[in-house]
Amino acid sequence: MDLSVIIPLYNERESLPELYSWIESSLKDFSHELIFVDDGSTDGSWEVVKEMAAQAGHDVRGIRFRRNYGKSAALYEGFAAAQGDIVVTMDADLQDSPEEIPEMVRMIREEGYDLVSGWKQHRQDNALTKNLPSKLYNWTARKVTGIRLHDMNCGLKAYRKEVVKNIEVYGEMHRYIPYLAKNAGFGNIGEKPVHHQKRKYGVSKFGMDRFVHGLLDLMSLWFLSRFGGKPMHFFGASGILMFLVGFVMTVWIIVAKLVHQAQGLKFRAVTDQPLFYLALMAVVLGVMLFLAGFIGEMISRSATGRNDYQVKEKL
Ligand code: UDP
Ligand code: MG
Repeated sequence: MDLSVIIPLYNERESLPELYSWIESSLKDFSHELIFVDDGSTDGSWEVVKEMAAQAGHDVRGIRFRRNYGKSAALYEGFAAAQGDIVVTMDADLQDSPEEIPEMVRMIREEGYDLVSGWKQHRQDNALTKNLPSKLYNWTARKVTGIRLHDMNCGLKAYRKEVVKNIEVYGEMHRYIPYLAKNAGFGNIGEKPVHHQKRKYGVSKFGMDRFVHGLLDLMSLWFLSRFGGKPMHFFGASGILMFLVGFVMTVWIIVAKLVHQAQGLKFRAVTDQPLFYLALMAVVLGVMLFLAGFIGEMISRSATGRNDYQVKEKL
């Protein structure tokens, strides 16, 4: 099979029939399957999916969650179920255009990309609450991940099958799938400007909190990709630094006091100086960072994935 199209949906009943016929008319040249993942909808979306599957025959599949888990979970299940050589994800709300898919597929097949991400160049969402923060967020993401994408979190993406079978989307990490792919060794990432429509039915499922969460997740992924397998390198280094700062300050305070005392000058008790408390704090923090490092090492030592490597070829 050429293509699997995965569509995560949460309360998108009105959009589904239109979406379905739009996809079908755009993908005439490919053998494909559609995988609708109903993320715990309560508006009757599942009934629509069931009906579409019944009418279409075998190439429309559905997965229904018992409750709402989030877009990442929906994509995770979709990735696990996908059988096509190329796997495409798109939103269910008619904002992404399936007409972009053939060109994305061509880029993967002919230009050798592992992953092609859409770029909503003319984004049709609220300028103040979505577009502007999104620009800022993407700039940060580019700096941190080193992946030169304008629109990391675009719902419309196409992947070589090996990519989705070798990454694990979890939590709310659907925003950073290109980063997950890069960390798994699929670094050939392309971008294609895509058309973007206004939301026709239903409401957006993500509010402003996604920028806070998005930023925290970015920090977590950055940390995990750099130090996930060797936490002591991070905690130990900062621990040593902290400890040294505290140590030097302590020596300074004591020596200064002794020297003043010996020369018969006025001197302050060690515990009488603000610097003493800073030194104390630095030493304690340094020790705590070290402890965090040791605990981190124990966790990563017993992590199930500690020796999961991406072997590309073997002879
Ligand atoms: N979605 C989902 N589970 C959720 C939230 C959203 O499957 O918990 C789906 C939603 O139905 C849509 C896609 O993820 O197909 C993108 O959501 P939305 O359009 O609300 O995001 P926006 O375009 O506003 O960023
Ligand atoms: Mg949308």
